[in-house]
Amino acid sequence: MALVNILHMTPGHEDSSYAKNSLLQETVIQKAIPCLNHTIKGIASRDIFLDGCFKIADLGCGSSRNTLLVASNIIDIVIEVCKENNHKPPQFQVCLNDLFGNDFNNLFKLLPEFYAKLKREKGENVGPCIVSAVPGSFYGRLFPDKSLHLVHSSFSVHWLSQVPEGIENNTLNIYPAKTSPPNVFQAYAKQFRIDFTNFLKLRSKEIVRGGCMILTFLGRSVADPTSDDNCSLWEQLAQSLHDMVKEGLVRESNLNSFNLPLHYPCVDEVRDAIKNEGSFSLDNLTVFQVNWDPQDTDYTNTNDSIDLGQKHGRNTAKHIRAVTEPLLTSHFGNSINVVALFKKFEKHLAEHLANKKTRYFNIVISLTKNE
Ligand code: SAH
Repeated sequence: MALVNILHMTPGHEDSSYAKNSLLQETVIQKAIPCLNHTIKGIASRDIFLDGCFKIADLGCGSSRNTLLVASNIIDIVIEVCKENNHKPPQFQVCLNDLFGNDFNNLFKLLPEFYAKLKREKGENVGPCIVSAVPGSFYGRLFPDKSLHLVHSSFSVHWLSQVPEGIENNTLNIYPAKTSPPNVFQAYAKQFRIDFTNFLKLRSKEIVRGGCMILTFLGRSVADPTSDDNCSLWEQLAQSLHDMVKEGLVRESNLNSFNLPLHYPCVDEVRDAIKNEGSFSLDNLTVFQVNWDPQDTDYTNTNDSIDLGQKHGRNTAKHIRAVTEPLLTSHFGNSINVVALFKKFEKHLAEHLANKKTRYFNIVISLTKNE
């Protein structure tokens, strides 16, 4: 089945759902706020939406409270900028995009509270603010020509449109790993180049002249694709699946044919793709790290104690489960023992963190449409 019909975060409100396990993504959203601020000020200075309607799209919006947090942040900043410039705030149209299997219903249920808060905090003078859902892949057209002022996307553009082709020899791995053959790294880099270029081309049609995009996604800190911040996390999950193979709980051929449709680019890959595609200028590029366990506030130590490693391993495994469970069950079948798999993952993560504390490397870019 095509990836667009499979990929989604774990729906619902259970303990394993994305709605209950998206603190990592929330942390990333908070860290990107200064960049968002700066980008919106840039749009306002070009007077492209004043007195009209400010049209925003959040691509790969997910199904947790994070989505409306993003919308609130953007609205707050726009209103602030209007105040500073003695302008009347615009109306808002917020389009929430994700793939077809996304739990949009969860978002809709949060809307009454979102609208009430907006009214309470901003009063009758602001609005209307109209929120709608636009299901579909951001690797296809989603909006009419020149209809958006701001495209936002957080923690989504590292998802590829498909698993790269020609990587059948990435056996026992599920992503580029330190032991992967060179063609695997090349295939992932190529797929990212194709997808990201296509993403830029599509958005360049949908965004008004002078409109902006702000994208935050996972990357790696160095050009070398065997770096820890690229490979380590998924090596631990591959190892856990391999443990399941050894116990006869998963078929080896099934593990051999499973690969994740993800790519963590380095900064140069991103810069080159933007330059070669040519529709956008890169106004700002910022990077920051976040601990695997978003509840972990220690950014100084280079490894965890055994106890802390266990705690951080447990929390990391929980949020990774909320992101990967639908993909795993789609490939390995509903009978895969997800609880047993993530217990093993927890253990491997704890051992890894006690040896070397590895962090997510995030890239935030702010782009303005040319012409
Ligand atoms: N932005 C949200 C969700 C991040 S999780 C947050 O910060 O909480 C990544 C999301 O990207 C998932 O919901 C996934 O379904 C979505 N996604 C991945 N590939 C996509 C694509 N091609 N088109 C639209 N959404 C996509």
